[in-house]
Amino acid sequence: MEYDKAGFEKLAVEIGIPKFRAGQLLQWVFEKRAAGFDDMTNLSKDLRAKLAESYTVRTAEVIDEVTCKDGTRKFLVKWPDGVLTETVLMAYHDRNTVCISTQSGCPVRCTFCASGQHGLQRNLTSGEIIEQVILAADKLEDGKRLSNVVIMGMGEPFANYENTGKAITAINADWGLAIGARHITISTIGIPERIIKFAEDFPQVTLAVSLHAPNDALRQELIPWAQKYPLKDLMDAVAEYYDLTHREVTMEYVLLDGVNCLPKHAEQLAKLIRPFRCNVNLINYNTVLESGHRPAGEKAVANFMDILTQRGVNVHLRQSKGSDINAACGQLRNSGK
Ligand code: SAH
Repeated sequence: MEYDKAGFEKLAVEIGIPKFRAGQLLQWVFEKRAAGFDDMTNLSKDLRAKLAESYTVRTAEVIDEVTCKDGTRKFLVKWPDGVLTETVLMAYHDRNTVCISTQSGCPVRCTFCASGQHGLQRNLTSGEIIEQVILAADKLEDGKRLSNVVIMGMGEPFANYENTGKAITAINADWGLAIGARHITISTIGIPERIIKFAEDFPQVTLAVSLHAPNDALRQELIPWAQKYPLKDLMDAVAEYYDLTHREVTMEYVLLDGVNCLPKHAEQLAKLIRPFRCNVNLINYNTVLESGHRPAGEKAVANFMDILTQRGVNVHLRQSKGSDINAACGQLRNSGK
């Protein structure tokens, strides 16, 4: 169903209740984060029973939860058909950020990533994507507010564009979870035509593209899907994205020891992106045992950053959260839980 006023009004008509109840239902689901129909105390008992016959408020079952030294909490979520995803709650001094998944598994199959090791199980529905944000908000201490959403969990959001788009609408809307668009970030492997569509649909949401290599040969080795999307097409889309939104794209770059972070790669990367309005976010690799990759050493990281900075690139090193609990990227699901 659609998680907006029209969708809830349709539901009201379907079960034969007055349309004005739709607003109350929306409020219960998003603002008051009701756990079930029984919480909805301004609806009659009969109506609650009727709703419960055909609908469910919450469908996620948290089957494992781990807390990391830095306070990061990770939830392994089981959906009604048994597929698993991960939701991660990260606390920074001034914000609480949830990292949500858009698919169970992933079709992209980056060689270094745990999420795609077994391919794609299925797309999450828009409701399942939204529910992860509600679940995270519930987990915060009283008085704390969820301030940011990053769509960087399991799955490729642009391969589940429609459901992800509906979820973003609900997460952002006043009638929904009311999280500002600029506090939402989406990370994609970078499908050029979807980048343009996203610029048109959600110009205020921050876009991050997983670049990971400065030339086609290496990128296609690390990201098999990239064969369909040469860097030229990707960078053309990034340029058009800026023209449409006037917002910089963040280029994510995972540092794989000896593979993509040698000095020559830094030079190629600077050359590739300097003509464009984008910044670089380096992420040191979180080891996934089966992948055979290793994180870059401190010296290599510093050197890589220096070369980029000297060449005028705006570059940051992302502090990895939750690595001691395998929170980083699809790793809890693979731990056999
Ligand atoms: N499919 C989306 C979301 C993936 S997860 C995308 O490709 O952008 C978000 C980021 O984490 C991506 O840049 C992804 O490549 C990176 N990532 C995946 N596994 C990682 C690991 N083990 N260590 C560090 N970063 C990783």
